[in-house]
Amino acid sequence: MSHIAVVGLGLMGGSAAIRLSEAADVEVRGFDLDPAARARVAAEGVTATSTLEDAVRGASVVFTSLPNSDIVRRVWLGTDGIIAFADPGAVLVELSTIDPDTMRALGAAASERGIGVVDSPVSGGPGEARAGTLTLLVGGDDEVVESIADTLALVGTTRRTGDLGSGKITKIVNNMMGMGNVLVAAEAFALGVTAGVDPHVLYGILSQSGGTSSHFTKRFPKALAGDFEPGFSIELGEKDLALAQQLARSRQMPVPTASLARDLYAMARVEGQAGKDIVAILRMYEQWGQN
Ligand code: NAD
Repeated sequence: MSHIAVVGLGLMGGSAAIRLSEAADVEVRGFDLDPAARARVAAEGVTATSTLEDAVRGASVVFTSLPNSDIVRRVWLGTDGIIAFADPGAVLVELSTIDPDTMRALGAAASERGIGVVDSPVSGGPGEARAGTLTLLVGGDDEVVESIADTLALVGTTRRTGDLGSGKITKIVNNMMGMGNVLVAAEAFALGVTAGVDPHVLYGILSQSGGTSSHFTKRFPKALAGDFEPGFSIELGEKDLALAQQLARSRQMPVPTASLARDLYAMARVEGQAGKDIVAILRMYEQWGQN
């Protein structure tokens, strides 16, 4: 096996690249447009390259973790994209949360060059990526997935979802549920606090109630300590709810809760919280409670 490449070295990709550089037997090369992201991983044992081509050419496995479908298409396709630079026989693993049609289009383009593709969005955040404990929602061909099982195991636990595209669908509905949980929790929590209950007392009780969730117990203690750094940003969360709406439209299925949720996260974005963690939605509700 030659080297592993990671493209997109942000919160998720950067953490996964560092994890891989510690756990894999081979060199890990990383590329990101942002020099600061490259410097962060270079300080932790990843070989940061200044071009996409230098990261991808000759790699056995290439992971991508990028913000959205348009960027993924741009980075994978075309004469200066990953598919053009990758060796035949390489396997490309797409970790981002994007739409399933894009995922299938990438698979079709790669197979024309004899390159394998795995659809593998992830559940878990930067902490889990750093620890190699993500849940990988894996769609694609059994043989291709099996061929890189050892490498995937360094990043997290594989849960098979079906064909290419099924991983993205599973991830989109998973986030639809999780982001709805955060909204309801923020609304209830802000109402309880502004009506006079001590926030720490309220957290202690709600975190053990039937309405609790892993988002609540993971994110709200940080918010209570005044820490709204992402995690998972409002901007990316809004993008995922837009993906849920897009998927629902393709099925002509109404998803009124996801649509309302998207608007609420959009309101938090325009109020200046775009780069903050999704729990920053709590600040908006707290303001509404101050009257
Ligand atoms: P991020 O914004 O921290 O990182 C994205 C990185 O991609 C940035 O460093 C950016 O510079 C880089 N990038 C953008 N365009 C590029 C290009 N053309 N070439 C190379 N690099 C480029 O985002 P993130 O939180 O790491 O999320 C990445 C993906 O994972 C998203 O699709 C997100 O929805 C998904 N995701 C995030 C989380 C989370 O908790 N943060 C959890 C699960 C899934």
